[in-house]
Amino acid sequence: MNGITARRIVLAARPSGWPALDDFRLEPFTLPPIPAGGLLLRARYLSIDPYMRMRMDEHSAYAGSVGLGETMHGQAVAEVLRSEHPDYAEGDTVLAPTGWATHAVSDGTGLRKLDPVPEPVTASLGVLGMPGFTAYSGLMVIGAPKPGETVVVASASGPVGSVVGQLAKMAGCRAVGIAGGPEKCRYVLEDLGFDAAVDHRAPDFAERLAAACPGGVDVYFENVGGPVWQAVLPLFTKFARVPLCGLIAQYNESGRADGDLAETMRVVLTKNMTLRGFFNSEFVEEHFAEFLRVVSGGIADGRIRYREDVTEGLAQAPEAFLRMLRGQNLGKVLIKLDE
Ligand code: NDP
Repeated sequence: MNGITARRIVLAARPSGWPALDDFRLEPFTLPPIPAGGLLLRARYLSIDPYMRMRMDEHSAYAGSVGLGETMHGQAVAEVLRSEHPDYAEGDTVLAPTGWATHAVSDGTGLRKLDPVPEPVTASLGVLGMPGFTAYSGLMVIGAPKPGETVVVASASGPVGSVVGQLAKMAGCRAVGIAGGPEKCRYVLEDLGFDAAVDHRAPDFAERLAAACPGGVDVYFENVGGPVWQAVLPLFTKFARVPLCGLIAQYNESGRADGDLAETMRVVLTKNMTLRGFFNSEFVEEHFAEFLRVVSGGIADGRIRYREDVTEGLAQAPEAFLRMLRGQNLGKVLIKLDE
């Protein structure tokens, strides 16, 4: 269309267990005609997120699956190149479900205009976007932290976990982060200002976690599952709350994950705990505006910090995604598209 060479990454094969580069294919594609009242978009930054792994499975537990040969799903910051839509003008910056593609045609469904455009614009995919909101809604609505309580969060250096811990500090809590390796632990402790950071790869991880939580765990924000969950389980206090946000340790397990369900059930009962799974989308209407106010304020006064892990070029998206699943990212994973 109009001399645009659009490119996209499609799902070439369904992984069983860990995905590989061969499961993706980069290809040119022909943009469909713009529907009446629709828009043409150019993606500028693409968000890479853990949920995409679940969408690669045939029966995805997390919204729809990507079909074989279909564009990988995903959100992007995009520029409106052409618009017949009454709510958008050429040059507007929007959040759009473009998928892993350089361009997209849209009828306006799922679009959100960024007005004002945050600086940097990439924040709208991370700290001021879906991951930041997931942290805010899960912690504040389900975790309901009270001053003096201990809040533990897994994957603490990531876009969700980093905001959870900093919001816990703002709520007057002790914030304990779990992260993989010394570099991430140092970042969580020194840059993000958590009270303690514990390396889940250390052989004595469970003992170190217990030592970092002398009064037990009042709120555990679960991003991971697996052995990390098993280490937190003995530490819960009476009436502890668990916002169950993600289980990334299990996303590449093709069978059922190991773990002692009976012990989990016993602790939930005897500690009178609340274990509540959630998708951030259920809280958007009621809490998104207050989230933007609180977290923008935290960024402005330095109480909320964040990092972005930006790679250039659509072709690099599969490798960036695999790096994230392996824990080799530091901060929100983004692909910069300059097509
Ligand atoms: P992250 O950057 O936190 O996710 C990648 C990180 O996960 C890796 O860097 C790694 O960190 C950690 N990780 C991967 N495998 C393991 C493992 N086996 N054990 C422990 N840690 C592991 O991404 P996000 O902040 O975007 O997402 C965090 C979680 O939140 C995910 O589970 C995601 O699916 C979930 N989520 C849920 C939403 C909802 O609405 N419910 C919305 C958005 C995200 P490390 O090196 O520290 O181990």
